[in-house]
Amino acid sequence: MANKYCYLFSEGNANMRELLGGKGANLAEMTNIGLPVPQGFTITTEACTQYYEDGREINDEIFAEINQYIEKMEEITGKKFGDKQNPLLVSVRSGARASMPGMMDTILNLGLNETVVETIAAQSGNPRWAWDCYRRFIQMYSDVVMEVGKKYFEKLIDEMKEAKGVTFDVDLTADDLKTLAGQFKAEYKNKIGEDFPDDPKQQLYGAIKAVFRSWDNPRANVYRRDNDIPYSWGTAVNVQSMAFGNMGDDCGTGVAFTRDPATGAKGLFGEFLTNAQGEDVVAGVRTPMHISEMENKFPEAFAQFVEVCRILEEHYRDMQDMEFTVEHGKLYMLQTRNGKRTAHAALKIACDLVDEGMRTPEEAVAMIDPRNLDSLLHPTFDAAALKAAEPIAKALGAAPGAACGKIVFTADDAKEWAERGEKVVLVRLETSPEDIEGMKASQGILTVRGGMTSHAAVVARGMGACCVSGCGDIAMDEENKQFVLAGKTYKEGDIISFDGSTGCIYDGVIPTVEAKIAGEFGRIMAWADKFRTMKVRTNADTPADAKKARELGAEGIGLCRTEHMFFGEGRIDAFREMICAETVEEREAAMEKILPYQQGDFEQLYEAMEGDPVTIRFLDPPLHEFVPTEEEDIQKLADAQGKSVEQIKVIIDGLKEFNPMKGHRGCRLAVTYPEIAVMQTKAVIRAAINVSKKTGIDIKPEIMIPLVGELKELKYVKKTVVETADAEIAAAGVKMEYEVGTMIEIPRAALLADEIASEADFFCFGTNDLTQMTFGFSRDDAGKFLNAYYDAKIFENDPFAKLDQNGVGKLMKMAIDLGKPVNPKLHIGICGEHGGDPSSVEFCNSIGLDYVSCSPFRVPIARLAAAQAALK
Ligand code: PEP
Ligand code: MG
Repeated sequence: MANKYCYLFSEGNANMRELLGGKGANLAEMTNIGLPVPQGFTITTEACTQYYEDGREINDEIFAEINQYIEKMEEITGKKFGDKQNPLLVSVRSGARASMPGMMDTILNLGLNETVVETIAAQSGNPRWAWDCYRRFIQMYSDVVMEVGKKYFEKLIDEMKEAKGVTFDVDLTADDLKTLAGQFKAEYKNKIGEDFPDDPKQQLYGAIKAVFRSWDNPRANVYRRDNDIPYSWGTAVNVQSMAFGNMGDDCGTGVAFTRDPATGAKGLFGEFLTNAQGEDVVAGVRTPMHISEMENKFPEAFAQFVEVCRILEEHYRDMQDMEFTVEHGKLYMLQTRNGKRTAHAALKIACDLVDEGMRTPEEAVAMIDPRNLDSLLHPTFDAAALKAAEPIAKALGAAPGAACGKIVFTADDAKEWAERGEKVVLVRLETSPEDIEGMKASQGILTVRGGMTSHAAVVARGMGACCVSGCGDIAMDEENKQFVLAGKTYKEGDIISFDGSTGCIYDGVIPTVEAKIAGEFGRIMAWADKFRTMKVRTNADTPADAKKARELGAEGIGLCRTEHMFFGEGRIDAFREMICAETVEEREAAMEKILPYQQGDFEQLYEAMEGDPVTIRFLDPPLHEFVPTEEEDIQKLADAQGKSVEQIKVIIDGLKEFNPMKGHRGCRLAVTYPEIAVMQTKAVIRAAINVSKKTGIDIKPEIMIPLVGELKELKYVKKTVVETADAEIAAAGVKMEYEVGTMIEIPRAALLADEIASEADFFCFGTNDLTQMTFGFSRDDAGKFLNAYYDAKIFENDPFAKLDQNGVGKLMKMAIDLGKPVNPKLHIGICGEHGGDPSSVEFCNSIGLDYVSCSPFRVPIARLAAAQAALK
């Protein structure tokens, strides 16, 4: 056989996740270790890739193999598709290499038609169950395979419930459900123009295609981009014999974790619904009971389940997230995977596993997704304010965090409002996977329905967003964008706060406070620091940023963008005077005012870093970014310069450029106005001398020249710097070493790095500009067309966020290979945005950088990513 596209569960194992996907590999592994798994087969991820290569068609070879495996499955189970005695019913589920909860499609109860329904109704003596399965199947198949919206079917259910005067689906009788199934089929024909398919094989082919197709749905694409999952991986499809949780009150279904996914606390955590199918728990349509209540209803199955949990956790040496069904009191395992968890829980679980002897500290460090740390670094509610506040309601604390914002009712509104700078909280009856972008844009998500394992909860935890779910007290009116809670009507734009740990909801604003690295977070970071070889610095422009970064573990400043020191009120005036000066004298007069600000800030940066390196980058921005645009500011500048408004406007006009990013910026400013470099050098050296004297620590300033593309350019600016610095040091009568280095951010500098290295003490890759110039994409405008690139599958990621290792990375390697032999002492880092992106950090480690530098809140992420890179 040239290719093998299908595997029975008994043919696979946990190491085959690339081919079988996580779900398929784990179903195989559970089968191998003898757990009760309904049997079936997995269609490989390679079949999915082939489906896309063949223009979204399943080719004959794959079809033939699927047919063969249906036969094998029929043999194993002793059941047959469409059989009048013993019909085979299956579930069809997606399962990618990395788990993507809720992002792709699932179909249950496949294999049903009216004849089969009659058969299973008679065999089970439970016609209600049989017709319930059928109406569910028609609904799911229509939605997932044929893309007829769920809402048409839900409307029919609601009408039926109203006609029968009942509130819950479970109160509908067999006859009601049979009528509904008929109505559903009519609706299907009405929408699709064909009869609903009766042949189980045709149903299965449709379902398999739908799962393959769902790999490329918009929500899966967004999820993949956020989680660094390559499109090329594809998804596997699992065809599994059905176990029924909805056959009566001795049946049920549940989702459970071996530890609490929100806090990490050890112990069974989960939810259970009697007489239900898995989708009911996950979709949050009914609010389920706590897993512990299962013990009363199904003592034997519960005892067995507890044992299975123990076996699985010990086997995988990690917290497991499992789906299971109880059919007439008998337990069936449908899935296990390493459970998604909050960042807080991830840290606790990793530390506990070390303490329990299940994992080494190295493994514990490798278990944490660095991107998740982000959520721990964000504010929590001020404890005093929280204590003083009276909750208006309490629901399930599904994903921790502090959310405070204006209420919006749709995911689209959340996105739109957030884009215009509003802080919003998304309040929904329940969320569906399509809401992912709106959820991301929100401070938090509050749902009326759903439990801890509902889609909203799982997705929120995955993205580190705060979520409170299952708040049944809310009387929701989504259509009119309002709800009533605790007697008050809340409309769009009203403010509420809620706590994702306790589930408490509050009226109005509750102030928040900054987070700290302590406890398990501190323990993991200490291990990470022990294992990593690359240093982590920060990009900090103000003393406040530097202090924050130091608290978060920064080992120096890799980039201080000196132009950012002038954003504040008061300072900007002097800066404007400098850039709008017409003569050297005018410029020097303005710089006299600027120098003390810079020097003062530099002193504070040095003090904050306590002797660790501080790299000060000389002025870089296109000047027009700083010129006044408001009449009032122009007037102020005119007064300060003793000029007329018209004269100032002429000067401002003269600063306009066609392409400012490639215009008068970077070291070009120091070439045209060397006096700026003189002033900045004075500020750097004087600050360093003062702090050295004050603290007794030898400060060795690092001066960084931006946007260099030519050796002579660097030499020219460096000459000004060195002459000024040496004069300052001599005048102060002290001994001080300093370094002059350059950013490598123009491709030409990378190409000629051997020449540049002869004049540079260090290189620092400015991968923002290097990406901009390597691709020729404007970093300010790329957002406008990158979405089209994702849709066309030209790019999977934003190259400004995740380093393009093939192109930009090649230039970086080249620069290192050319530069180091010329200047073996050359130290090399990165300070573009990529310095805080885990996969880019790994790359930087692999090419031998000495440090990465990133924004303060990403320092812990970079520390952990650097450790993981070193451990790989
Ligand atoms: C860069 O270009 O990567 C860089 C750090 O500098 P800036 O973003 O200030 O241009
Ligand atoms: Mg730059």
